Amino acid sequence: GGGAVVLSVEGLRAAYGRAQILFGVDLALRRGEVAALMGRNGAGKTTTLKAVMGLVPPTGGTVVFEGRDVTGWEPFRIARLGLGYVPEERRIFTDLTVFENLEVGRRPLADGQAPWTPERLFSIFPNLAEMRARRASAMSGGEQQMLTIARTLMGNPRAVLLDEPSEGLAPVIVEQMAEAVLRMKGEGIAVLLSEQNLSFASAVADRAYVIEKGAVRYEGTTAELEVRSEVREAYLTV
Ligand code: ATP
Repeated sequence: GGGAVVLSVEGLRAAYGRAQILFGVDLALRRGEVAALMGRNGAGKTTTLKAVMGLVPPTGGTVVFEGRDVTGWEPFRIARLGLGYVPEERRIFTDLTVFENLEVGRRPLADGQAPWTPERLFSIFPNLAEMRARRASAMSGGEQQMLTIARTLMGNPRAVLLDEPSEGLAPVIVEQMAEAVLRMKGEGIAVLLSEQNLSFASAVADRAYVIEKGAVRYEGTTAELEVRSEVREAYLTV
């Protein structure tokens, strides 16, 4: 069911040099939903997100964001339209405090939409509130990952791509991350996240796309994926 399609990807193809990686990825992200892009190591999750964002040039297919064909646009132009991107590696200034890192990400809006502030973000990431004066270098990897997401939200995106947000996090931080993703959804931000772990995907996502060898092999609700053991065995690590 659901609302309008925010992000529509059709037949997306991408390559690194002569190595073709994506062979026609189809997916859609609707307003206010969280969707998971699942698949094993090397299936093409990261490449899909990068090709959507223009970080890897698409060699075919289309990427439409909020009704505009942005296929192959430069990443900063796509970001400026309101599509945020959080890579797997952290992007923060380790010499700056949590609060300063958020301020650096602040971007005024032209259309008068209420912009994010550090204070508003602290309600989504309560653990960051407690360490607002701490230098980022003194945070755990998981905390730095949350700060990277929070900083991206300071740019006021309407949809966000999150690359493996739960990867390598301690279990307690994974729980905080899941809560943060659900609060982002509660704020009306659509989220497409890549994920290998079905339990995290089920905790946050309504629907899942499972990719293998650069194409979507299965699309359905995460609840359905929980009971489709043959799909999990074929395309996910079990
Ligand atoms: P992972 O969980 O390991 O990140 P993934 O599903 O995100 O997996 P991708 O990172 O998209 O997979 O990688 C898909 C394929 O592209 C892999 O075979 C990988 O080796 C290859 N690949 C990724 N980056 C490059 C690159 N810069 N140059 C060449 N090949 C690459």
